[in-house]
Amino acid sequence: MIIIKTENEIERLRKGGKILAGILKQLSEAVKPGITTESLDALTNELVAKAGCTPALLNYKPEGADHPFPKSICISVNSEVVHGIPGNKILNDGDTVALDLVINYDGVFLDSTVTVPVGEIAPKNKQLLSLTKSALDEAIAAIKPGATVGDIGHAVEQFVKPYRLGIVRGLSGHGVGRAIHEDPYIPNYGKKGKGEKLVPGMVIAIEPMLTRGAEDVIQMRDGYTLKTIDNSRSAHFEHTVLIKEDGYPEVLTIEK
Ligand code: MG
Repeated sequence: MIIIKTENEIERLRKGGKILAGILKQLSEAVKPGITTESLDALTNELVAKAGCTPALLNYKPEGADHPFPKSICISVNSEVVHGIPGNKILNDGDTVALDLVINYDGVFLDSTVTVPVGEIAPKNKQLLSLTKSALDEAIAAIKPGATVGDIGHAVEQFVKPYRLGIVRGLSGHGVGRAIHEDPYIPNYGKKGKGEKLVPGMVIAIEPMLTRGAEDVIQMRDGYTLKTIDNSRSAHFEHTVLIKEDGYPEVLTIEK
C-alpha cells in the first residue's frame, strides 16, 4: 500500500532531510586513506545523536534476513554495491566508498546515499561517480504532473545508455517516510508511462546503482554485503524525494 504523507509528516520530513544531508556531508569530509569503516560508523553515531535523531539501520531486520543489521550506516567499498557492514577494513587511496544512511527524525524516516572518493581515484572511477550522481538528477527531473514510477527508471536507462555502464538489477528505490521501506518499488529501469502514478504526498527514495561492468550482484557471507558479480567498481547515489502538490519533485535530503 502506498502511504500518502500528512502535512505534519511532510514538515518533519523536510527538517529531517536537511539534517541527514548535513550529516552525510560531515561523514564525506571525514573519509580519507588510513581510516577504518568502523570509525565512520562511530562518527555516524556521534553526529546522529547530536542532531537529536536515531540511526534507523541499527538492529533493523529486513524481510528475509536471519539477523538484524549490526551497525548504524551501510558502508560499501569499491565493488561492494550496498549493505556493507562497517568493520576493521582500512580505506586506501583510490578506493570509492558509498555511505548509505537512514535516520529517524521525530518519528519519520529519511534515506540518502553518497559515494565519495578516498584520496586520489582513477579517472574512470571519477567518471562513474559523477555519472551516477547525474543519473539520480535525471531520475528526479523525470518527475512531473502525471508521471509514473516507470518514468523514473526509464530516465535512468536513457541517461546511462551511451556510457556502457551496468545498472544493478534486483535492487531498487522505494517508498519511505513512516517506515524505512514502503511501497512502491522504484526500479532503475522501466517503461515510460508504466507503473504506479506518482501523486502529491508520496515520498520516495530514488537510488541508481551503476557499475563499470556486470548488472548482477552476489551476497557475501556476512548475510548483508552485496557485491558486483564480476568485481567491477560500483557507485550509488540516493535522495528522499517528495511529490509536491503541483506534481513536481522536492528533494528533501539536501541542505537548503
Ligand atoms: Mg534506500
